[in-house]
Amino acid sequence: MQQNKSVPFFSFDATTELIKEEIKQTFDDFLQSQWYILGNKLSTFETDYANFNGTKHCIGVANGLDALHIALKALNIGPGDEVIVPTNTFIATWLAVSYAGATVVPVEPDEVTYNIHSDKIEAAITSKTKAIIPVHLYGQACEMDEIMAMARKHSLFVIEDNAQAHGATYQGTLTGSFGDINATSFYPTKNFGALGDGGALTTNSAELDTKARLLRNYGSAEKYHHEIVGLNSRLDEIQAAFLSVKLKYLASWTAERKQVAILYDELLAGINDLVIPVTAEGAEHVYHLYVIRTNRRDELQAYLKNKGVATAIHYPIPAHLQKAYAHLGYKKGNFPIAEQLAATSLSLPMNPGLAGEDVRYVCDALRSFYE
Ligand SMILES: *Cc1c(COP(=O)(O)O)cnc(C)c1O
Repeated sequence: MQQNKSVPFFSFDATTELIKEEIKQTFDDFLQSQWYILGNKLSTFETDYANFNGTKHCIGVANGLDALHIALKALNIGPGDEVIVPTNTFIATWLAVSYAGATVVPVEPDEVTYNIHSDKIEAAITSKTKAIIPVHLYGQACEMDEIMAMARKHSLFVIEDNAQAHGATYQGTLTGSFGDINATSFYPTKNFGALGDGGALTTNSAELDTKARLLRNYGSAEKYHHEIVGLNSRLDEIQAAFLSVKLKYLASWTAERKQVAILYDELLAGINDLVIPVTAEGAEHVYHLYVIRTNRRDELQAYLKNKGVATAIHYPIPAHLQKAYAHLGYKKGNFPIAEQLAATSLSLPMNPGLAGEDVRYVCDALRSFYE
């Protein structure tokens, strides 16, 4: 085994190299245009992304958290309403519900896919439940046929959190196009990221499109006329222009992530006490993260670090045990699957352009831990 190699957890090197000249040209055009907010570059990107995602409308906003918050507001969800969220997710999914003034109702994930599943959702539905927010976690599409059927059965809205799964499909249909109105993030390290913060909503409803556009812009369609109490949450012209450049490469970057995952799958198969990702039938996984699980997680992470392999934990503390949610009164033991995932999950290096030799190095280091 080669020594003194180092593999970062994430690298922009390959993608930046590919787009550098176009990005510089785009910035020059932007500077010439002297138009910074709510202009042609945003509307062009919104059309591009709606086409990409197979929805009629896309509304660019400041970030993924705002996209979720605006989706809830557009559906008139607020105080007194309950919203079903996964126990195992990035905290933004919960925070959006809290910002809207509604109550989070956490539901445990499937133990194999780590995604929320309709089997467990039904027991959490009450007369106050208004919506479900499935999160396509780590890049794997949730089993949306059953979630949509459950939502229809109980007359609930669905807001997909597609922040980790741009371009994934379930039974051939793109994530971010199932729900009533859906949210995504263009945080730089997501599968599809801006060069700064960004986010968007996607919907097929003209009515929700109009409402979301008002909400992101002070409740205003006409300057100084305010129809509703809105926010200021717009996707900048410059980020929209950068995203239009990057969108052309997304499919190939997703293919590269999948290649990396296939190699990991192959090289890590059959290790005792090591669980590799499992993709549900009909679901596509676009590998925002490649998450393995082991009971010796902390020990393995330290061992890999020593070998020059950087890893990360998604997520070390489940939302219900965060200080921010102490007021809900949850205790350790309330959501054992999320707690178990927090204690055993480890994310391996993953990014487009990650070299096969680096993946091999990571896997050799990992195997040597178990020898
Ligand atoms: C990143 C992320 C968000 C929030 O996106 P930001 O743009 O960082 O606000 C929401 N949900 C999930 C699942 C995420 O991974």
